[in-house]
Amino acid sequence: MPTTLTPYRKKRNFKTSPEPRGAQSNIKRKTQGKSKTPSSRSLFVIQLHDASHLHYDLRLKIGSVLKSWAIPKGPSLNPNDKRLAVQTEDHPIEYAKFEGVIPEGHYGAGYVLVWDKGTFKNCTLSRTTQDKEKNKILDLEKAYKNGHIIFDVNGKKLHGKFVLQRFKNDAKPAWMLIKMKDEFSDGRKNIIKSRPESVLTGLTLKQMRNK
Ligand code: MN
Repeated sequence: MPTTLTPYRKKRNFKTSPEPRGAQSNIKRKTQGKSKTPSSRSLFVIQLHDASHLHYDLRLKIGSVLKSWAIPKGPSLNPNDKRLAVQTEDHPIEYAKFEGVIPEGHYGAGYVLVWDKGTFKNCTLSRTTQDKEKNKILDLEKAYKNGHIIFDVNGKKLHGKFVLQRFKNDAKPAWMLIKMKDEFSDGRKNIIKSRPESVLTGLTLKQMRNK
């Protein structure tokens, strides 16, 4: 699987935007995406992005890139909520650290705040009927390709299992993000409202703007 950062790079001007270009070459290094056991932890980040429309960008490191989804309403702890997650272009790993302002006239112009960051563990079960594969964890890249990922998040704000389920697979694939029932699910708590701040600086969007 070659790096798929070309759409990301084409949309941006790295001379005038502080966003990272991403150091990876287009040739996948031998060690990347290989050798990882299915149970190993990977990078997870959610960025609050105050562009033309405020949204939350969920990014999961799958293979050598950050697979990305724009979630207009943000994540919910309520297992009854299905949150639309529109897939966007792959981002470089370095983007997980990005917080700041994308200048006017640039793609996605506006403030970006690191709303949550941590790791996740792939918990997607294999659906194959072969007995030896039953109840085994499916490879993360396969789960992604199948459009069904169960992942256990260890962030600063979000914890526990979520499911990403693809329901539209065309030029702009659409997924649903749903909290699974566990000790961290909560039907009443509004995590978006109660924890608006950056996990890097503790500042809210408003405080960032007034700085
Ligand atoms: Mn965005």
